[in-house]
Amino acid sequence: MGDSRREWMQPGAHAVASGVYRIPLPLPNDGLRAVNVYAVVDGDDLTLIDGGWALAESREQLSTALGVLGAELGDVRRFLVTHVHRDHYTQAVALRREFGARVLLGEGEQPTLQRLMDPDDDKLAQLEQLAECGAKPVQEAVRASLGHEAPSMRDWEAPDEWIGETTDVSLTDRPLRALATPGHTRGHVVFLDESHGLMFAGDHVLPHITPSIGFEQVSGEFPLRDYMDSLRLVRALPDMRLLPAHGPVSESVHERVDQLLDHHDRRLDEIEAAAVEGASTAYDVARILTWTRRERTLDELDPFNQMLAVLETGSHMDVLALQGRLRMERVDGVRQYVEA
Ligand SMILES: [Zn+2]
Repeated sequence: MGDSRREWMQPGAHAVASGVYRIPLPLPNDGLRAVNVYAVVDGDDLTLIDGGWALAESREQLSTALGVLGAELGDVRRFLVTHVHRDHYTQAVALRREFGARVLLGEGEQPTLQRLMDPDDDKLAQLEQLAECGAKPVQEAVRASLGHEAPSMRDWEAPDEWIGETTDVSLTDRPLRALATPGHTRGHVVFLDESHGLMFAGDHVLPHITPSIGFEQVSGEFPLRDYMDSLRLVRALPDMRLLPAHGPVSESVHERVDQLLDHHDRRLDEIEAAAVEGASTAYDVARILTWTRRERTLDELDPFNQMLAVLETGSHMDVLALQGRLRMERVDGVRQYVEA
């Protein structure tokens, strides 16, 4: 990876449009390395799109970046959060505790958040999903990698307001519209500043990677179908600048959406072919495919990314079954797919 591919992670408050600043914040080592939050001037205050991961280092960098704008953490009046994933939501909640900002989140995240907030839940719903995919070895590897680290309940609290179809998220002098884009998660939303041609895309459209699909506690029935529908939904809007949560700003949402749709069409073909040749579970197929731009095998990925890869393969196979290209049957709790 050349330096240019990392340039976007440089800390600071980078002006991307009038009154809009991109602030990259650090992540623990999970492959993505950084998450962009966007500070938008909102009258005398600020609105932040996404909050980052609740970590001391992230809080520090956010505070420094806001300082460059002559603001402080307490000046953030609202957080508009694109989805419930830890790297987007948890710091918004943490800063609300301290400073009282309002936190808004898409209403489709309710089932997942409920489970995350349930003290009796083991927080390992994805491990159950892996079993259905026939991926026992990945399940074991993920379990081992989690170690004894108890999941923190404190990170999960309800938002002040759920974003539904009619929720007005506008800023003081800037109309802003929330658009539900389920797929990456069920309740993912993007925020549109249509007068300035800007899309705050969260993880719906990312410039360098293909967003993971349906990685959540309680996923929808067909997350990949929902995701592709949501791609077509934003493709049907006038083209806008892409302000993603991971990666640099680029000029065209449409261009990247076309690439992502192509990618998934090709992937569907590959996966259908593998299943027809006899790979019957998502795990079997995921081991035949290659992963990331570097074309790694499944075994070369770390356990967390193996899990994402297997679950995503399962989503593709479910879409193929939905399209009548494969047939699914459950055998001992494992989803098996055969030629239709
Ligand atoms: Zn993310």
